[in-house]
Amino acid sequence: MEFPFTKTVNDENETAKLAEDFVKIIHKGQVIVLNGNLGAGKTFFIKNLLARFGIRNVNSPTFSIVNEHEGKIKAYHFDFYRLNKIEELYDIGWEEYLNDPDGILLIEWGNLLQDALPSKRIEISISFIDETKRKFEFKEYE
Ligand code: ADP
Ligand code: MG
Repeated sequence: MEFPFTKTVNDENETAKLAEDFVKIIHKGQVIVLNGNLGAGKTFFIKNLLARFGIRNVNSPTFSIVNEHEGKIKAYHFDFYRLNKIEELYDIGWEEYLNDPDGILLIEWGNLLQDALPSKRIEISISFIDETKRKFEFKEYE
């Protein structure tokens, strides 16, 4: 996969396949932001991605803000949806998460707190086309 990359998928299986393709270019220390409306498939994509690292118990961190996982890789799964202020993120140790060279960061709704995001990141925007069809757009920022 080379960026920018756009793909329209027809169903969940194709999303799972896309997550499999994407996982091949992931490495430790990377920050991956997922944007898209409620029900777009951000959590679904992350579940499939983390399954490739042997991580299975993936749920939406909407209330917890962050879920920590350890499989073949360390993963920090964030959801910014319920955060009101950037301070709330720093209070739970945002900088330590960002500076962990061994972890990958996956951030749902990263667009809601754009100022907190590092300049180097991959952004995935998911748009709802119909009940099972989604458009995925991948971009890399340096
Ligand atoms: P988000 O985290 O973006 O709010 P979720 O991943 O929690 O969204 O929910 C996406 C929902 O859409 C799930 O119920 C999933 O089964 C369904 N869905 C249907 N088609 C697709 C698809 N092609 N890709 C991802 N999810 C899909
Ligand atoms: Mg979600």
